Amino acid sequence: MDYDIVIIGAGHNGLITAAYLAQAGYRVAVFERREIVGGAVSTQERVPGYQIDLGGSAHILIRQTPIVEELELDAFGLRYIDLDPMFIAPFPDGQTLYIYRDLQKTIDHLEAQIPGAGKNYHNFVSDWQGFARTMRNLFLSSPSPWQIGKQFIVGETSPLPWHEELRHILRPYEQVLQSYFDAPKVQTLIAWMAAQSGPPPTEPLTGPFALWHPLYHDGGVARPEGGSGMLTQALRAHIEAHGGTVETDAAVDEILVEQGSASGVRVHDQIYTSRAVCSATHARETFDKLLPEQYRPDQADGLRIGNGFGAMLRLALDAPVEYTHAEDGEEARTGLQLLCRDLSQLRQAYGEYLGNEPSKDPPLVAMTFSAADDTLAPSGSEVLWLWGQYYPYELADNQSWNKIADDVADRMIDQFETYAPGIRDHIVGQLFQHPAWLEDRLGLFRGNVMHLEMSIDQMFAGRPTLGLASYRGPVDGLYLTGASTHPGGGIMGAAGRNAARTILSDLS
Ligand SMILES: Cc1cc2nc3c(=O)[nH]c(=O)nc-3n(C[C@H](O)[C@H](O)[C@H](O)COP(=O)(O)OP(=O)(O)OC[C@H]3O[C@@H](n4cnc5c(N)ncnc54)[C@H](O)[C@@H]3O)c2cc1C
Repeated sequence: MDYDIVIIGAGHNGLITAAYLAQAGYRVAVFERREIVGGAVSTQERVPGYQIDLGGSAHILIRQTPIVEELELDAFGLRYIDLDPMFIAPFPDGQTLYIYRDLQKTIDHLEAQIPGAGKNYHNFVSDWQGFARTMRNLFLSSPSPWQIGKQFIVGETSPLPWHEELRHILRPYEQVLQSYFDAPKVQTLIAWMAAQSGPPPTEPLTGPFALWHPLYHDGGVARPEGGSGMLTQALRAHIEAHGGTVETDAAVDEILVEQGSASGVRVHDQIYTSRAVCSATHARETFDKLLPEQYRPDQADGLRIGNGFGAMLRLALDAPVEYTHAEDGEEARTGLQLLCRDLSQLRQAYGEYLGNEPSKDPPLVAMTFSAADDTLAPSGSEVLWLWGQYYPYELADNQSWNKIADDVADRMIDQFETYAPGIRDHIVGQLFQHPAWLEDRLGLFRGNVMHLEMSIDQMFAGRPTLGLASYRGPVDGLYLTGASTHPGGGIMGAAGRNAARTILSDLS
């Protein structure tokens, strides 16, 4: 055997699986199709002097896991910068709401801004903190019915009676928020963050996307100094320091199967043999392109990838953003800037998306991380990233993204200028990552940054499909990880860690 285990794809989840296995003493090789590691957690100098993230930027979920400590990633160059305030929500009437890492500071601030809102926030967090922590523990384990049952029996649950708790869990998250908060601004702020996973605020059974909000106060919002990709650079350094191999520009063309067991991979014309193979790519890539056809599971036909949902405009600016609402410029630019007026703006954007139209009035998340990290742009300059929703991959009237991309990006800038006028004059470089771009360049089919839709039928034991949710693939010796597996997309690494634990248990 050339290796004990071959990992296909160097996204952060694949690298995390590889790092745990290398740390345990196994001979590991990672093969990555692109020229850099990291997949949707990578950073490149796309404009001279500006470090541009190509995928996820806000490190929130990984802060809920022990991964950084267990792999001692600080010894491999990873340094996290905490962003506090975590969220800043300016509204058209000039009022701005802040969510700080410190719960009491947030409660006091909200109460001072909107009488009653602080008290409601306190009730919301205390009712759901236990449930949210139980969800987090579920994310850190293989999603068997036994684990789910065990976590809810021994884990912290909500102090609400079970029928009240269930009622909220089954509801669309906008209804959960409307029942907790009188203030539409607080409803909007939390709903817009909940919408980042994809499902709209009106979808039943999405209550948990808002109900895990208390976890932000546990783990915070952070950024690796130097760019999001510093996480995956540190993982690569860790793997190599433990004797592993990481190869880029090395697309796997086929998973080799001998006598019903995965036995290695083919990269171009080269065969690499191994005791086990772990595919960390999109599930569609694994099932439809890499596995020999006779082993393709029937369930692969049912994968729901959806129709994209967001787009990112990366702007290199020669001056910092100046918000009209900001009394304190630094504080207003530190965390995620949630630019959504109200729930109807969110619903309206989703309505257009259902008609395969890009939003004309998109809610935005603006990110200006130079405020916290001066290594990202030349002194006195700024990186500004605008994430907008909703943007469908397939467009009405046979339109193509190549034709409409410039207009849609312009519309996002217009929208941002309602909060920070004059920004257009400071743009020195830009990259627009629309759904077709995300598929073409990052392999995110149909532009879904979460790989598969994050709705209840494709979560927990349903991800990627029922029967294949234990990180074990359709043939012996083949393992699955990545955003296509439990607990799904986002920069978390739990899928990578869970898969590593399964593989370690099987190999030993
Ligand atoms: C624009 C954007 C913004 C986002 N913002 C955030 C955010 O702020 N916070 C957050 O938590 N999440 C965010 N996300 C989501 C998050 O980044 C992703 O869900 C997550 O990084 C997916 O990681 P992964 O390792 O599971 O998969 P991927 O990153 O998709 O990795 C899969 C890897 O496999 C490789 N590969 C595929 N096929 C092959 C092959 N045949 N051979 C070899 N290699 C192959 C790919 O090149 C890729 O490197 C964002 C994503 C995008 C794109």
